[in-house]
Order: sequence, then structure tokens, then C-alpha cells
Amino acid sequence: MTGIDETNESPADILCKSCGLCCSGHLFIWAKLRPSELDRAESWGLKVFRDDPTQRGFSLPCPLWDGQCTIHTSPHYPHVCREYKCKLLKEVIAETTPLPDALTAIEKAKEMIHELKVLLPASENPNFRERLVAQLERRKEFDDEHQDLRLLKADELLALYEEVFGVTDLIDKPDTQSPM
Ligand code: SF4
Repeated sequence: MTGIDETNESPADILCKSCGLCCSGHLFIWAKLRPSELDRAESWGLKVFRDDPTQRGFSLPCPLWDGQCTIHTSPHYPHVCREYKCKLLKEVIAETTPLPDALTAIEKAKEMIHELKVLLPASENPNFRERLVAQLERRKEFDDEHQDLRLLKADELLALYEEVFGVTDLIDKPDTQSPM
């Protein structure tokens, strides 16, 4: 990758800039904030919720993701954003997965997300993960001509989320769910 030398960016930065899936509502529904971060996050325009002390944070997609994080260099960059590292990012930092392979994995994930997105029923919900989970948890409600293909692609995507990103908590595995 010529970009590595030209920009002096670390492989980790290059990877996350090409991805953004943890910020854009594809992997998670919300991100946790510390109490001291809530007001500033709100002033930045994030959708903050704070009533339940065990669930204080902001909804995803994050409006500050614009091809890259626009507050990445802020001294007030939220703790969770600084600390979160998906499985793939950890592997790139540990140099157990070469950056080009990691970038290919991100491309594949985005392609699979796109393929599934066009099959999902129209929705006002901007959070892809919620839409995906709704498909899998409330299968009967969405029983139309796209259902078989949609469920196949959703199951494949869940497997990829686990394998690539280490995200496993979206839903009980479909084959362990009780029939509805
Ligand atoms: S999902 Fe992983 S690789 Fe993608 S932006 Fe988040 S931490 Fe970076």
C-alpha cells in the first residue's frame, strides 16, 4: 500500500479510516459515555441518553463520522472511541494480519452489508444493526419473496461479524432460537 509511506499514517489509522463500521451503526446500536462526557457529546450533536445510569451513551450511527472521525484529535475524544478495538484492528496492531488482508476483509464486509441492505424492507431506522436484528428476531413479520435470500445473507453476515470483528452478541444464533 503506497498510502502508508506517503501519509505516514499507522496501519491502524488506515484500517479504521477505510472502515468506520463500529461508528456507523453497522456493528453496534450505541456507545457508552462517562458521566463527565455527556454534556460535551450533546453539544457536539450526538444523540445522548442519560436517564439510566447503567446505560449512558449516544446512539449510532455517529454523526461525527464523515469518512473518518472528525473529532479524533480532540482532547475530549470520548474514552470508548479511544479504547475500542475490534478483533481485526487488534490483529493488525499485533501484526498477525497484514494490512492489505485486513482491508480486503473490510471490503468484503461492506459488500455483504450492501447486498443485505438492498434486500431489507424500507425503514426510517438509520441503525443497520437494529434492522438486521429485527429481521432475525421477528422473522414472520418479514415473510415475503426476499425472505430466504435475506436470511441466508443475514446469517452469513453474522458469521463474518464474529470471525472478522469479534462481535458475537447481536442475537442468539438462529439455529438455537425457538421456532416462532
Ligand atoms: S470496526 Fe474495527 S477496523 Fe472498523 S473502524 Fe471500528 S475498530 Fe476500526
